[in-house]
Order: sequence, then structure tokens, then C-alpha cells
Amino acid sequence: MTTITLVRGDITRQTVDAIVNAANSSLLGGGGVDGAIHRRGGPAILEECRALRASRYGKGLPTGRAVATTAGELDARWVIHTVGPVHSGSEDRSELLASCYRESLRVADELGARTVAFPAISTGVYRWPMDDAARIAVETVRSARTAVEEVRFVLFDDRAYETFAARLN
Ligand code: ADP
Repeated sequence: MTTITLVRGDITRQTVDAIVNAANSSLLGGGGVDGAIHRRGGPAILEECRALRASRYGKGLPTGRAVATTAGELDARWVIHTVGPVHSGSEDRSELLASCYRESLRVADELGARTVAFPAISTGVYRWPMDDAARIAVETVRSARTAVEEVRFVLFDDRAYETFAARLN
């Protein structure tokens, strides 16, 4: 049984086994959560991302996939980088957003992570409407087959927190 918890706050301040990063496909850092994770986590994470780029992901990490690095100076053992889809008004990319949660949990299981913190993937620069993103996040985690014991959604502001809370109840 996976317990879902909600926290309003900064994902880089969480003590968990794995922190999920809403990365971009370059794996070389960006704004939002990605920027915050690299800032607080220090250069070790970016170095590992560069190595992954050079070895396995020359064309970038595909949307909906996930890959782990160590967590540098964060209070976690791993960062799991996943690439959310940009929201589209003309095309349904929900399956790709669900895949981010599923793939991140699959990687967490491979690592043996038992507590995993997720941000609201794709709801920033990638413009996914918060309510729909929360629905997909909660449904996907609820139906996942995983040994992860706690999935913690870490929401950055009150609106995101309230939206996830409404979807959870
Ligand atoms: P994406 O490119 O997937 O949209 P963003 O990083 O732009 O990713 O935003 C994803 C969500 O993460 C947004 O709701 C944003 O408000 C939130 N966010 C930004 N910084 C943090 C942080 N330090 N901790 C948790 N959530 C954050």
C-alpha cells in the first residue's frame, strides 16, 4: 500500500529517499523546480546528468521517461529526473504526463526508494492546467504497482496545494 501525502513547500527541503525533478529533455538544467534542485543540490547532480547525456541520452531524455542520479547535497539519496510534456490545446498528451509518474516510480523501485517526493510536473513553464495535472498525478499514483511506501506531492503554492487536496479527497 502506498500512502499519498501532501505538503505545501519547497521540494528541495524534503527529507526523502528520492526527489523527482521536472527536468527538460536536455538534462542540463533549467528554471523552476529544475533550477532549484541544481542550485541547492550542488554541481554533482549536473555532472552526472552530463555523463548520462554523453553515454545514454545523446538526443536527450524522451518525454515521459525517467532516469536517476545521486542527490548531491540534498537531503535525499537520489534525484529522479523526468521530462513532462508541454501542455497542448490540440493534442491529448495526458498519457505522457501519466508516464512521468509511472516511470519515476519504476525507477524508484529499481533503486529501492521507499519515500518519493514529486512536484506538480508540467504545471509551470509547460503550462498544464493544475486541476487536470492533479487528477492525472493522483490517479496514476493510486493505480501504480510499486513498493514505494510514501508518495509525497510537494506543492509550491496554496492554489496548487488546494487543487491536489481536492483531487485526493
Ligand atoms: P515544468 O517545466 O514541468 O512545467 P516547472 O519547474 O516550471 O516545471 O514547474 C512545475 C511546478 O513546480 C510548478 O507548479 C511550480 O510552481 C512548481 N515549483 C517551482 N519550484 C518549486 C520548488 N522549489 N518546490 C516545489 N515545487 C516547485
